[in-house]
Amino acid sequence: MPRIASRVSQLNGEGALAVYSRAKELERAGRSIIHLELGEPDFHPAAPVVDAVRAAVAAGRDRYVSTRGIPALREAIAEYLKRTRRLQATAEQVLVAPGCKMALSLAMMALIEPGDEVLYPDPGFPIYPSFTRGLGAAAVAFGLEERNGFQPDLDEIAAKITPRTTALIFNSPNNPTGTVFNAKAIRKIAELAEKHDLWILSDEIYARILFNGEYESIWSLPGMAERTIIIDGFSKSFAMTGWRLGYAVAPKHVVDAMDLLVLNTFTCAAEFTQVAAIEALLDTTDAVDAMVEEYRKRRDLFVAGLNDIPGFRCQPPGGAFYAWVNIEETGLAAEEVAKLLLEDAGVAGIAGAAFGAGGKNYLRFSLVSARNLLEEALERMLRVSSRWRAAVAR
Ligand code: PLP
Repeated sequence: MPRIASRVSQLNGEGALAVYSRAKELERAGRSIIHLELGEPDFHPAAPVVDAVRAAVAAGRDRYVSTRGIPALREAIAEYLKRTRRLQATAEQVLVAPGCKMALSLAMMALIEPGDEVLYPDPGFPIYPSFTRGLGAAAVAFGLEERNGFQPDLDEIAAKITPRTTALIFNSPNNPTGTVFNAKAIRKIAELAEKHDLWILSDEIYARILFNGEYESIWSLPGMAERTIIIDGFSKSFAMTGWRLGYAVAPKHVVDAMDLLVLNTFTCAAEFTQVAAIEALLDTTDAVDAMVEEYRKRRDLFVAGLNDIPGFRCQPPGGAFYAWVNIEETGLAAEEVAKLLLEDAGVAGIAGAAFGAGGKNYLRFSLVSARNLLEEALERMLRVSSRWRAAVAR
């Protein structure tokens, strides 16, 4: 039989989808399930964005367009980043792709060679090590540990850089921990990148979902615009997951390289979604702030409730929409707790190992259900906690 290319065997999937399938199966059997497993907002795009996509289709904006994205959207992205992140980038440094993940994989294909070493956060988005390995490179984890407030250990990162290291990927706010990398961490990472001539892939998809202060992008630090690729998109900030629209901001010669990859693969992102995305960036109804305010209320309610469950411990996330819960004191494996919660309590969350070895004793819950459902989930979990309560009391 003809063979499948070996790179595919290096890839892994995403844990959330397996839990989602089982949760759906239970629902079909008549069970009530509260879905806290997927990282998909329960909001939809603001009304002007929906109107804009309708108008764009009606106006025939459904053609092949520029491989790097329509100029008006690239201008709007540069303008938006200036307004919301005080970031100086020009439209020619922007490349539009169908989803943040596609922007990430184009950047990785453009920059990573077989045999390279790539640093990535553990726990973190599972695609970083997976796609790194798929490109024939070695994925080298750096830890985000609870005892450091889930901030990176900069000495560990420095010690893991070798002559083969070519890139460091990070995601702030982080999925799954919700950590916003602090100013010291970002500066030190920038310093190491300069010293060792590394690319920085800064996945900023949750940059707008921030509960305190202002977002600082590593791109803005002196000298970093030459070696940083920002990955961002519309899925989370604008609740446009299914629209498949993301972008990269990178030095012009990196955009040129990625552009050639676009031409060789998907040609362009859909024109009408790009036209409507300009409306999303303008955010005339302040939909983003309203959504973040709701996530903040959910976070406060849910994290407080989680900390009242015997054996659970959760630090409030600084951003993104996840609660990352240490379950070590239950005396059970995270997979067992997740199974009990799903099968007996009807609450779907993900065992943390799906995000790397550092997630072994954790569960991730997404704050993508309404507050009344989160309250119900907490009550259900508290009831089921009787199974491990004795272990906690010991
Ligand atoms: N990056 C991170 C850290 C994510 O958590 C996700 C989605 O869960 C993505 C990228 C994917 O974004 P998109 O849906 O735009 O491809």
